[in-house]
Amino acid sequence: MLLVLNSGSSTIKFEIFATPEIGSVASGIVERIGEAKGRLELRCGGAKMTEKSAAANHREALELVFEALREAGVLGGGIECLGVGHRIVHGGESFSEPVVVSKAVIDKIKKAAPLAPLHNPAAVEGIKAAGQVLPDVPQVAVFDTAFHQTMPPRAYRYALPAWCYRKHAIRRYGMHGTSHAYVARRAARQLRKPLEELKLITLHLGNGASVAAIDGGECVDTSMGLTPLEGLVMGTRSGDLDPAIPMFLIRETGRTAEDIDRLLNKESGLKGLCGENDVRGIVQKAEAGNEAAELALDIFCYRIRKYIGAYLAALGGADAVVFTAGIGENSAVVRSRTVRGLEQLGIVFDEDRNLEAGRREFSFHADESNVRLLVVATSEERAIAEATWELVGD
Ligand code: ADP
Repeated sequence: MLLVLNSGSSTIKFEIFATPEIGSVASGIVERIGEAKGRLELRCGGAKMTEKSAAANHREALELVFEALREAGVLGGGIECLGVGHRIVHGGESFSEPVVVSKAVIDKIKKAAPLAPLHNPAAVEGIKAAGQVLPDVPQVAVFDTAFHQTMPPRAYRYALPAWCYRKHAIRRYGMHGTSHAYVARRAARQLRKPLEELKLITLHLGNGASVAAIDGGECVDTSMGLTPLEGLVMGTRSGDLDPAIPMFLIRETGRTAEDIDRLLNKESGLKGLCGENDVRGIVQKAEAGNEAAELALDIFCYRIRKYIGAYLAALGGADAVVFTAGIGENSAVVRSRTVRGLEQLGIVFDEDRNLEAGRREFSFHADESNVRLLVVATSEERAIAEATWELVGD
């Protein structure tokens, strides 16, 4: 078995995968770590178990997880954990692929903490906890940023004074890399062509959303930047905007930098535009004539279209556009509104195929389309398990 951990400051999400086939066996979450009233949820074989159980720190939380897994018969009785894969949000410029955890690796994750102040310290806690609970089990760090490290300087540098980059490492890093890399591999299988021969535009459209331009399996551009705020319109994030707007708001409203940070990350995007960030509800409201919902949907899809156009130019054409994550996999409305009217760019979609739901992987381009349109289900946890097995499996 392999354990995949996604450690937040007060939560640990976990998933257990069987080896070597990497099939999901159980998953769950520990919430409110460090508080008096905690909660553990375990989903296993179609059943869901929740219990109130307080954990003072990440080590105690992980002990609770193992206790629950043993009780459920997932571990123990000869079935052991062979490796732990950690999702790490920010690898800075130090990591371009998954690595086996060592002291030097932990130091570099800590060094990148200013770039992800909420996430990286929590990930280090998760690594330490796993080291204490499973001292002899190898651990692997898988970075959200790693896949994007192949971007050339013209894509990752901002047009700021050079010292901003040299002294403060301000550049575009990109996120969701594990997902973009995973769906690119799946898309190549669906297209029956080696990834090395394909130009792909991958759209990860979840609550957070980003686009990647992938040439021959290597990322050449992506829409998220120094932080996940740049690029597409998201559930609660603004995405691209005039960089003068934060200063304008500070001057005009007297709000602090922290207020503006919250406004841009938590109160903007779809939620800011129409009061809601779940695309299902927004589509329903838009269809019922709600103007704010209609505008939110329009801006959301228009932004994605602009990125498709930009990345077609960056790549010099593409073999396929790949939709993934909650919205990309499930919203036929978003897919059709995004790619409609792009025939001049070689993208012709087929609405009947687009509406065909219920499959994890399918295509919805018309036969005459130069660019294929694919839907691929992502699984960051599975991708982390695969990377972990590649490094620590026999
Ligand atoms: P994240 O992992 O970033 O939290 P997900 O990839 O799970 O996000 O995507 C969550 C989003 O997917 C939800 O906010 C919702 O808008 C959207 N979503 C999920 N199911 C559907 C559906 N059937 N139709 C439209 N949108 C959906």
